[in-house]
Amino acid sequence: MSTQIQKNITNKKNVKKYLDFTFENLQIEGYEAVYKITNEKENLLAIISMHDVTLGTALGGTRIKSYKSFNDALTDALRLSKGMSYKAAISEVGLGGGKSVIIVDDIKDKNENLLKAFGKAVDLLEGKYICAEDMGCTPQDVEHIHENTKYVVGLPTEKSSGNPSRFTSYGVVQGIKATLKKLFGTSNLKNRKIAIQGLGSVGELLIEHLFWAGADLIVSDIDMQKAKSFASIYGAIAVEPEAIHKVECDIFTPCAIGGTINDETIDELNCKAVCGAANNQLLEDRHADILKDKNILYAPDFVVNAGGLINVSTELEKDGYHPKKAKEKIYKIYNELLEIYKIAEENNISTNKAAIKLAQFKMKSGIGRRKDKLYFHHSE
Ligand code: NAD
Repeated sequence: MSTQIQKNITNKKNVKKYLDFTFENLQIEGYEAVYKITNEKENLLAIISMHDVTLGTALGGTRIKSYKSFNDALTDALRLSKGMSYKAAISEVGLGGGKSVIIVDDIKDKNENLLKAFGKAVDLLEGKYICAEDMGCTPQDVEHIHENTKYVVGLPTEKSSGNPSRFTSYGVVQGIKATLKKLFGTSNLKNRKIAIQGLGSVGELLIEHLFWAGADLIVSDIDMQKAKSFASIYGAIAVEPEAIHKVECDIFTPCAIGGTINDETIDELNCKAVCGAANNQLLEDRHADILKDKNILYAPDFVVNAGGLINVSTELEKDGYHPKKAKEKIYKIYNELLEIYKIAEENNISTNKAAIKLAQFKMKSGIGRRKDKLYFHHSE
């Protein structure tokens, strides 16, 4: 973390009290606002980070996690909210990049009162930030947050959009098809070898899509029993978690954790492309350049996994949520990705740089900026 950031964090002039909440604006350069929020009564320590709001209100999930230090949590919130700005810009959902983290000593410390206190904090920002589910925060947890604020999306209720995983996995299928088109001139999945890392909410739906489309599948999960069971249902091959990135395949599909592409794994890859749902697949941005040098096509994660964001964004429209509307928008990931591959090739840059360039261009030119107000139909 830079010295400037450290200095800003200790500038107490930025501290404001509302009710029994303390909001400290950490004034991080390049960010619209980043708040450290505390509430002693409920033992709440949270960060709400709003990166770029040129195209619309900051929206992003609430991560509930135990971190080694406050600075680690801050780094996570900053990185993730920036990624959300790019994701929102690329998919033209008329939203900005946001993310929040609730820091807990242990995930078991998560409770209804803590979630409600966080909801109150979100509400005190009067709609500048909209939260959703994320790692450690289920749609049911979002319901508790919602008890104190309307500024949420993805509730498991009739007028909201619920769990986004189905839509994320459909988006990943579009990403895989575009990647095949780029590699082989056809998006046909028949007999293409796809290696999936992680069979959770997204992976388990993805495997079904790919199976029916005729792909040959190799799967893994840290829960080996689960991997074996999926392998037997879909005629796939199950491999140990530490082996999945090494298998010979057309596309390696990370759907588990971040940082899968790192200094250790990158030389062991035996695929033609990497395209999956996981956030922050590259441990560092420079790994995108190494993939380019190795002639491995990388589908930028924030483009491929935008289906969940696109889905929740539709519930904020005047005519309310409809899954078909979300599906149609998610289908466009196919063309967006092909456009990014083209930009990368024409400029001889990594696909990751090309995607960031495109997102920044859209933000600068106001492409996709929200024109209408936001509707929270679930709270009417
Ligand atoms: P999940 O927690 O439901 O599933 C993750 C799965 O990966 C679990 O089955 C877990 O056992 C397995 N796993 C963990 N570490 C592993 C390892 N080292 N090797 C193999 N398997 C491992 O998560 P999810 O909702 O399916 O999301 C998957 C990824 O996609 C995450 O990175 C998430 O941030 C990202 N993502 C998800 C959504 C969504 O809509 N769910 C949207 C955007 C991005």
